[in-house]
Amino acid sequence: MAAIEGSWGGGGEKKTVVVVGGGVAGSMVAKSLQFVANVVLIDQKDYFEISWASLRVMVEPSFAERSVINHSDYLTNGHIVTSTAVNITESEVLTAQGDLIAYDYLVVATGHMESFSRTRIEKLSQYQEEFKKIKSANSILIVGGGPTGVELAGEIVVDFPDKKVTLVHRGPRLLEFIGSKASNKALNWLTSKKVEVIFQQSVDLNSVSDGIYHTSGGETITADCHFLCTGKPLSSAWLKETVLKNRLDMLGRLKVDEHLRVRGHENIFAIGDITDISELKQGYLAQRHALVTAKNLKLLMTGGKESKMATYKPGSTMAIVSLGRKEAVAEFPFMTLIGCIPGLIKSKDLFVGKARKQLGLKPGHTENKM
Ligand SMILES: Cc1cc2nc3c(=O)[nH]c(=O)nc-3n(C[C@H](O)[C@H](O)[C@H](O)COP(=O)(O)OP(=O)(O)OC[C@H]3O[C@@H](n4cnc5c(N)ncnc54)[C@H](O)[C@@H]3O)c2cc1C
Repeated sequence: MAAIEGSWGGGGEKKTVVVVGGGVAGSMVAKSLQFVANVVLIDQKDYFEISWASLRVMVEPSFAERSVINHSDYLTNGHIVTSTAVNITESEVLTAQGDLIAYDYLVVATGHMESFSRTRIEKLSQYQEEFKKIKSANSILIVGGGPTGVELAGEIVVDFPDKKVTLVHRGPRLLEFIGSKASNKALNWLTSKKVEVIFQQSVDLNSVSDGIYHTSGGETITADCHFLCTGKPLSSAWLKETVLKNRLDMLGRLKVDEHLRVRGHENIFAIGDITDISELKQGYLAQRHALVTAKNLKLLMTGGKESKMATYKPGSTMAIVSLGRKEAVAEFPFMTLIGCIPGLIKSKDLFVGKARKQLGLKPGHTENKM
């Protein structure tokens, strides 16, 4: 078992902050603290992916050159451990490969479970394969009508208008995480592009043969390939046998206070989708959590008073779901819009340049080496 102590990158007088999870929230808090603390980032993969660009990448794999970023590109003064965290004690994190990493402060940011490629190179080649699958298919089945399924359908019909796309959704409306006005607008847009949308049915993916899929309603769908776009569970099961086991709620989310500390733990924070904050689980909110936490950690590490800690206020409902390269459907607190105006905000670059800038990288440039 390898023990990693906080003695690299700037001297032993600095506190060690261990961040578990290098997604939207974890990458940002690690980057923000790297010159004021000994930062150790533990992630099961060696890269950060801008998740909201992943559907564009499936129709344009070169987009991933900017949206899949090696951790080492932005975390130039931190320590990166590429392994799965499997346990936490009051003072250490244990990884699957046997590292025992001591911390002064811990940030848990493990978000959602995903099937992942371990390296950036593997991830880029996986996207090439998915692109080939789409390109060579005449008919495509998308299972799931949440934001991922709707955005994927939008990308395919805009770039490949001749392909037959069928979307099957278990629920009564698309985009159930936001209001029904947005659902209806998205449905009208998709049907105007000849997408067949089937509601309140599921697809048995174990009984597919010769491109024939069976739905729970007894229908058959013919498709050359399918993409599963259903919601992913939280990545918190690994916490069930740890010092944080009593801090998980019924949904497997970590209970946090207004400063984003895990309740009952003075030196452990949790940020991003894994928290029990009552708001939509969105990346831009996960980034805000990261900034509040970085601020609080800087204060605590320099001996500041707890009463001066920054407070996080849950975000209001705001979501933009892109519909191909130019259009989108957006829900803001006072209105719901579809078309080119919300599309102008998101759909061209999908905030990739912005997310790269937030990590201190050039928006349009790739430093990554294959
Ligand atoms: C397709 C798609 C489109 C989206 N579009 C938008 C959008 O347009 N706007 C928006 O604001 N949000 C969007 N979101 C939501 C946004 O991506 C999430 O809210 C955000 O990723 C949450 O960040 P996070 O850091 O909490 O978790 P994640 O980004 O999920 O990161 C979790 C990280 O933890 C790692 N991990 C998990 N378990 C372990 C473990 N045990 N040990 C080590 N590492 C571990 C994972 O590898 C991953 O790197 C979208 C999500 C998806 C999937």
